[in-house]
Amino acid sequence: MQVPPNPLIVALDLPDRASIVSLASQLAGEVGMVKVGYEAYLRYGGDLLSELADLGHRIFLDLKLHDIPRTVAAGVKAVRRPELGLLTIHAAGGSEMINAAVEASDGLFDVVAVTLLTSLDEATVRSVGYQQSVPDQVKLMAELSVEAGAAGVVCSARELTTLQSVAGIRVVPGIRPAGAALGDQKRVATPAEAQRDGATWLVVGRPITQADTPVEAARAILSSLS
Ligand code: C5P
Repeated sequence: MQVPPNPLIVALDLPDRASIVSLASQLAGEVGMVKVGYEAYLRYGGDLLSELADLGHRIFLDLKLHDIPRTVAAGVKAVRRPELGLLTIHAAGGSEMINAAVEASDGLFDVVAVTLLTSLDEATVRSVGYQQSVPDQVKLMAELSVEAGAAGVVCSARELTTLQSVAGIRVVPGIRPAGAALGDQKRVATPAEAQRDGATWLVVGRPITQADTPVEAARAILSSLS
């Protein structure tokens, strides 16, 4: 597995294009990737991605695609572009859908699977029909995803130990530097803890986007890593 030289991904969760681009330009050359979610992508489209690429960024496009295999493959082809580094799909779409997404990526970027959303608690997971405990279900879906060709999974830091025996990369949100505000994140880890437990990529939003000097915040996180 290739270890990225700079494992930090900054989630550009800001309300408008000007602030997204302004933050991205401050972070140019400082981070491994920037994450664009579907809110910004639906609003500003591929144009925004080109602008971020022009600033030198590789992009994690977090679209969490989930549909029949043919439609997902068509969606992946529609967003395929050289500046993409990562794209998310839902593992719940099954092997055939995962494989269709991977084939459609043409090896240009890593397709990573979301297993169970971390917003789902045990009761909700049971209510939609999954019979297993959350950790067992997450592991099963991670194994299935990697077997179907996904490069790895998106998971919380808490799930990293459960997934130790599963191959592939780990993209880990819910990262908070020691002492940082949690916001709405409940299950967090520090960057160093997540790295120790096997995270490949660390996804950080508010601790950087809301900092007085985002570049300093990003550098502090990177310097806390080994
Ligand atoms: O601001 P914060 O660091 O909490 O942002 C984390 C980013 O990762 C957000 O874009 C959030 O939507 C995303 N995310 C997450 N937890 C997941 C999956 C994605 O926080 N399980």
